[in-house]
Amino acid sequence: MKHIRVDNEKDLHLLQGSKYVHSYIEDTLKLVKNDLEQNRKVLFIGTPCQIAGLKKFLDKEYENLYTIDLVCHGVPPQKYLEEEIKYLTDKKVDKISFRSQEGFVLELYNNNEVIAKKKKDESSYYYGFFNSLYYRENCYECIYAKPERCSDITIGDFWGIDENAKLRDTQNKGLSVVLPITKKGQELFEMCKEKLEIEERPVQEAINGNTQLRVPSRKPPKYEKIKETYIKKGYKKTSKMILRNVKIKSKLKNNKIIYGIYKKIK
Ligand SMILES: Cc1cc2nc3c(=O)[nH]c(=O)nc-3n(C[C@H](O)[C@H](O)[C@H](O)COP(=O)(O)OP(=O)(O)OC[C@H]3O[C@@H](n4cnc5c(N)ncnc54)[C@H](O)[C@@H]3O)c2cc1C
Repeated sequence: MKHIRVDNEKDLHLLQGSKYVHSYIEDTLKLVKNDLEQNRKVLFIGTPCQIAGLKKFLDKEYENLYTIDLVCHGVPPQKYLEEEIKYLTDKKVDKISFRSQEGFVLELYNNNEVIAKKKKDESSYYYGFFNSLYYRENCYECIYAKPERCSDITIGDFWGIDENAKLRDTQNKGLSVVLPITKKGQELFEMCKEKLEIEERPVQEAINGNTQLRVPSRKPPKYEKIKETYIKKGYKKTSKMILRNVKIKSKLKNNKIIYGIYKKIK
């Protein structure tokens, strides 16, 4: 997975869809600078640290630069995703999807056909992503996981919307949070507002519901164990160990008293 430059509407689909993994920046920073210097308008989208990286690289303000960051709880290294793909299929994978109408489902494609499909608790990679099991080290100390944002607009999933809000995600289609931060961000939002179904909510509601708008993800106690198992025994064994724990946890969850004791012990 890598950042790419798109300069026409026809290719926009290449950017769409969240990829829950670290994205390589490659030469996009240079391409952005070149476009800005040629007076082209540029919209750069990425994780907050990637936006901050771009700004540091440019080292000056550009009126024609617009930035959007994603609320981000951390990214696993690409190596883990490559291992998961190898584990799930022998076939060539030419597209990956992390979200569909069915919700958080990992789908691997070959020639537009799904060749492997796992719900988030059936894939150790996806489970690990959601439960912060193996992010890049710096994600656990992310200095951008706070209400003060570093781009013109922040987008994410709207967790914790008030139950009296008009817009509720009743059909599980997904509900996004859009936080225009700067004047430029507000301008961008005004430009596409007509095409969106929106409801203005208090900012604090989004901050309260979305941990990553307040603090970085916590490194789990089993982080080192997982890393060690991966290094010594490989991905397959690590994956099995994680999924075994998921099964135990879900069985325990069926019994509230035992699950309460288990959580206390942990
Ligand atoms: C690694 C990661 C972690 C996230 N964590 C959270 C979270 O903790 N809480 C929360 O509310 N939302 C989180 N999100 C954001 C959420 O999943 C959606 O991406 C967001 O709501 C935008 O969805 P969308 O369907 O509008 O746009 P999408 O089409 O899904 O994506 C919007 C833009 O993000 C770019 N993008 C996709 N994946 C990456 C990536 N890996 N790195 C850099 N840019 C990328 C796309 O190219 C596109 O331009 C995370 C997203 C990512 C990629």
